[in-house]
Amino acid sequence: MLLPLPFANVYDYVVPDGLALAPGDYVHVPLGPRRVSGIVWSEGVGDVAADKLRTVAERIDLPPWSETTRSFLSWVANYTLAPLGAVLRLALSVPAALDPPPARTGYVLSHAGSGRMTDARQRVAALLADGAVRAAADIAREAEVSTGVVRSMADAGLLRPAMLATIAQAPLRATAAVTLSPAQEVAAHELRARVRARTFSVTVLDGVTGSGKTEVYLDAVAEALEQGQQVLVLVPEISLTAQWLERFHIRFGAAPNEWHSELSMATRRNTWRAVAEGRAQVVVGARSALFLPYANLGLIVIDEEHDASYKQEEGVIYNARDMAVARGHIAGLPIVLVSATPALETVVNVEAGRYTAIHLPERHGGAHLPAIRAVDMRATPPARGRWLSPVVIDAVTRALREGSQAMLFLNRRGYAPLTLCRTCGHRMQCPNCQAWLVEHRYVGRLACHHCGHSVPLPKACPACAALDSLAPCGPGVERIHEEVRELFPEARAAVMASDTITGPAGAAAMVRAVAEHHVDILIGTQIVAKGHHFPLLTVVAVVDADLGLGGGDLRASERTFQLLSQVAGRAGRAERPGRVYLQTYLPDHPVIEALLSGDRAGFLARESDDRRAGGWPPFGRLVALIVSGHDAPRVEAHALALSRAAPHLDGVRVLGPAPAPLALLRGRHRYRLLLRAERTVNVQSVVRDWVARAPAPNGVRLQVDVDPYSFL
Ligand code: ADP
Ligand code: ZN
Repeated sequence: MLLPLPFANVYDYVVPDGLALAPGDYVHVPLGPRRVSGIVWSEGVGDVAADKLRTVAERIDLPPWSETTRSFLSWVANYTLAPLGAVLRLALSVPAALDPPPARTGYVLSHAGSGRMTDARQRVAALLADGAVRAAADIAREAEVSTGVVRSMADAGLLRPAMLATIAQAPLRATAAVTLSPAQEVAAHELRARVRARTFSVTVLDGVTGSGKTEVYLDAVAEALEQGQQVLVLVPEISLTAQWLERFHIRFGAAPNEWHSELSMATRRNTWRAVAEGRAQVVVGARSALFLPYANLGLIVIDEEHDASYKQEEGVIYNARDMAVARGHIAGLPIVLVSATPALETVVNVEAGRYTAIHLPERHGGAHLPAIRAVDMRATPPARGRWLSPVVIDAVTRALREGSQAMLFLNRRGYAPLTLCRTCGHRMQCPNCQAWLVEHRYVGRLACHHCGHSVPLPKACPACAALDSLAPCGPGVERIHEEVRELFPEARAAVMASDTITGPAGAAAMVRAVAEHHVDILIGTQIVAKGHHFPLLTVVAVVDADLGLGGGDLRASERTFQLLSQVAGRAGRAERPGRVYLQTYLPDHPVIEALLSGDRAGFLARESDDRRAGGWPPFGRLVALIVSGHDAPRVEAHALALSRAAPHLDGVRVLGPAPAPLALLRGRHRYRLLLRAERTVNVQSVVRDWVARAPAPNGVRLQVDVDPYSFL
């Protein structure tokens, strides 16, 4: 029996007489004083004394897990070195969904009760005159009364409770077909064939921004639906999918099932069950949607496959893109990876013939890719205390004059990333993390972006008590907003960052406001770069194109190239041509040059050569070990113990231990070790043996990150 607990082992139970159980079945079992749900994994090996065994309480009535689903979870546990029970918990993330759905009650009109018929009550009576059973909330909404009115009518006997039929979801059907361009048609034809083949394949849909990749893969979704199969579409930022959902709705006549962390408990429960029972036809979700127990999955699409948000950095540490490919391999599914800037890993897999690429080199409908130019900040610097170059100000001015929109991109939330005392030089730092506090001026606070610690902006320096001496250093989006308001007082400017919008509804409202031209200048962080289609947006300016290039991160160049390509891709998507400005102090940097010339292939070839020479991924393998705890000496001691126990094997090198760049995070001291190995090395087995030789003492935690993306 496998239980969703953070342990690697499987538990043995006795099957009571008369209960037939097979591997994959859902069961309730006793565990200590509790009752927990789990999955029958295999027949017990019989190494537990019979009188110690407890008995399975009951079988839960849900379609059992297939062999492939179980193999997939085992594979993930093995690959990520996470306990199998912890991986199972990703799949059984909604325990309440295992209970049969509660019978829902609604109301019908009763002729027994009595009471004064107010206008509101009359509207309810009129609505219910057709005799249909409706839920209280629906009555309130449709009759435009408060739920209190419904309740009081029920109390007065004017309404009678009645069982609601379970509402069947409208089946998805490709209704409104789009007319694909010839190039799109070729791509869609190819993807449809892959879906029909019902075997494992990985296809990279590699097309420039605005080439219609979404329209093309929705064709593959349609094909899977025609085949009666379920589809999973993974997207990097589910709160930003309002435009995507709208297009989906137009094309398929109904909404897909969403899966992300902001769903209500009831929706999670219903969706989980609909997925497990095969009723949910299309799931669009964040990375965790990959672990849902699909009854009949036929296709996985990973949109923006290069995006770093597919990496889960806590608990079970995994990359959803890579795990999706593994699921496809185990279950025999076609996988579609979609991007305008595929990850180097993906490009190398295409070159090696493991993946197939389909290209869409042109924008749809005759739109051109925007012209990109560098703004050399040494030659045309901003005014003192300002951040926008005259070149950019001029471009925005012209865009506004012709009734177009402009976007200013800066990947930094808040007003200023550092606050410094002009009198004593004190820097405002987080007490729990080795990080500066970021000023958020709209809310008048200093906040840590790592742990959430926040304090009101002090009047006096906490170190020297000097009054009004704290000065903001450097810009965040709020500071750019301030500058925009001074430069363009007539323009309607708005900020879009994860902390200035509230949830998916807030994001959707903002996107709509921009699309409908209620905003002239949009200032934002990376969330403005993702997938949006703003037809009137012609000028995009990157306030600090060098921001991601510093530091020793393996993927700094690649990531900056991807992010800035994506930002640039927002400009000129319709009739009006786009212009992109990159403010930089490093106009000769290879990343900036590649963006200007549009030479993606050349850039990737150089990146590839560098990584191959150093034995870095994807030409070598990496596993990071992060040791952390509240007691610094103990943490350091264990990091050294791990270092002494490190493997001495051909093709394997261990770097570190060293204090992590984020040496203090949420009050925990942190050390890192990095294992680098040749591709042929089975790093999982090497690391498993390694950490077994140096078990972590109490109070010290070891996290193992296979294929790390973050080196903080
Ligand atoms: P990508 O995903 O490659 O950035 P999209 O699929 O978002 O591109 O397409 C860009 C825009 O062009 C969208 O507004 C989309 O609806 C439109 N579009 C793309 N292909 C077609 C088509 N064949 N017919 C009509 N509109 C299309
Ligand atoms: Zn902090």
